[in-house]
Amino acid sequence: MAPNPFLTMESNMLTINNLSKTYSNGVKALNQVTLSLSNGMFGLLGPNGAGKSTLMRTLATLQQPDSGSIQFNDIDLLAAPQNIRPLLGYLPQEFGVYPNVSAQDLLTHFALLSGLSDSSQRRRQIETLLAITNLTQHRKKAVSTFSGGMKQRFGIALALLGNPKLLIVDEPTAGLDPEERNRFHNLLRDVSEETVVILSTHIVEDVSNLCTNMAILNQGTIVNQGSPIELIQQVKGRLWKRTVDKHEVEAIEKTFDIISHRHVYGRSELHILADVSPGEGFAAIDGDLEDVYFANLKYPDITSSKSKAAA
Ligand code: ADP
Repeated sequence: MAPNPFLTMESNMLTINNLSKTYSNGVKALNQVTLSLSNGMFGLLGPNGAGKSTLMRTLATLQQPDSGSIQFNDIDLLAAPQNIRPLLGYLPQEFGVYPNVSAQDLLTHFALLSGLSDSSQRRRQIETLLAITNLTQHRKKAVSTFSGGMKQRFGIALALLGNPKLLIVDEPTAGLDPEERNRFHNLLRDVSEETVVILSTHIVEDVSNLCTNMAILNQGTIVNQGSPIELIQQVKGRLWKRTVDKHEVEAIEKTFDIISHRHVYGRSELHILADVSPGEGFAAIDGDLEDVYFANLKYPDITSSKSKAAA
């Protein structure tokens, strides 16, 4: 009987419950974080200092929370980190590479470290990883000489050694040019079909381009979560814009609660969240994920109270 292709697609589940972490200096980096993720791209969006890396490192079993639980399929990640590690890929914000070691040699080194001892299997996997990350023609070059985008793709190749089921990617596109970013996005999208991918970023576009589900983290707290479309729906009919000259911005900011400020053809476009028109000169707009993000940072209770969010 022919194999059923649908049965080969594994579904995975990551459940994070009430995760909290306070560092010894008193900073509460995670505050009762609760999230549920399945296969696909999940975006964790938040400003610098929100607690994203703390959560990513905790998921990567590199540090312990103070309380809470993390379950991946039937594995209790905090109680049995050794059981999750073979299923885990982690691309940290920055990773060092040895100078003068080629991409192929570095992959071989880490493949051996991770226990891939069968040489033909190892060679096949490394060939595949170099091909999907578009690095085959650069495999003999030292990784230390790679461009930012090539390094990030190499990082993904490293993180994918051993076919992880949970891939943790921390702030991957900062510093990449648009073409490199695009290529990186396509790669992640392909990987996420059979893997839980959690992508932490402060770049709204990374989430709007890629993620089917997302959460906004601010000061250690999840302030909103859902699909980008659901989140945009929450601000529908409540967004207004006014385009002004640069010298007018200060006065308007004193009068109105601006959620975001964009530069459009040399002028300033100011966005406001309010249940009714804030006044003359403001036009209703549909809003996008960037509006949602800034509105949630400014009004953490945006989902529970409409009136409080009004300007
Ligand atoms: P993000 O990745 O969103 O920028 P982090 O998780 O790196 O956020 O940091 C969250 C907060 O915890 C910040 O205020 C940061 O300064 C603090 N922090 C991070 N790591 C440590 C640490 N090892 N010791 C003390 N404070 C830390």
